[in-house]
Amino acid sequence: MLEYFKAMGFERVPVTSVLFAPVTVIQPAEDTIVYSANVSHAPAFDKEAALHSLRDEIGDCKRCALSQERTNIVFGEGSPDARIMFIGEAPGREEDIQARPFVGDAGKLLTKLIEKMGEKSGFQREDVFIANIVKCRPPMNRDPHDDEMRTCSRFLVRQIEIIAPKVIVSLGRISAFSLSGRNGPLTSFSITRARGKFFDYRVGNRSIPVMPTFHPAYLLRNPKDKWLTWEDALAVLKRLEEEK
Ligand code: URA
Repeated sequence: MLEYFKAMGFERVPVTSVLFAPVTVIQPAEDTIVYSANVSHAPAFDKEAALHSLRDEIGDCKRCALSQERTNIVFGEGSPDARIMFIGEAPGREEDIQARPFVGDAGKLLTKLIEKMGEKSGFQREDVFIANIVKCRPPMNRDPHDDEMRTCSRFLVRQIEIIAPKVIVSLGRISAFSLSGRNGPLTSFSITRARGKFFDYRVGNRSIPVMPTFHPAYLLRNPKDKWLTWEDALAVLKRLEEEK
């Protein structure tokens, strides 16, 4: 435990985080029912095949301007049976090159967080599903524009429908703002105020709890706030335990 905190860059260990360290055992999803108008309710629904056909449908996407400068589409990766989905903002340089989400410096920090969350039960990065609000890198890592998020969102919605996770963790301001379906300017949304409080994401006739937390890239710049993300992670594990 202490080694983990050190690896995450913490200089001090808060008593509450040690006392409430996760003891959750995370199992693969027990149900395979997807509550959605678009996909079958049959128990034998093949999530992996559905994700493959969604990837095929995206094809060599040219539906928005982000296609012009991207190298690769970053579809997302992980287990089709994931009980947790992590949703970031947009691929960065490394992700664009490798066609994989969260593989740069921020991704390494996210991987540490996931591994710590799964430490007690043996779940690892490949057991969760990691995706982004948009699937192509914005030039110079600028924020994705509204129309780009709208165009891409139908594919993320389908991924969420297919995987049907028990909990979603949104990483950063843009992801939380986008999933919360808020109206109004992004500039009026504060992740500092929103983080740590679940909201519901409605998909089909199902409601999935979303925990907004800081983006790992922000935590690299503001390591003192890692504690808050760890507290959010503990709340997610508790929620998963209750969802069993
Ligand atoms: N930042 C994100 O939001 N997503 C990635 O995949 C990488 C960095």
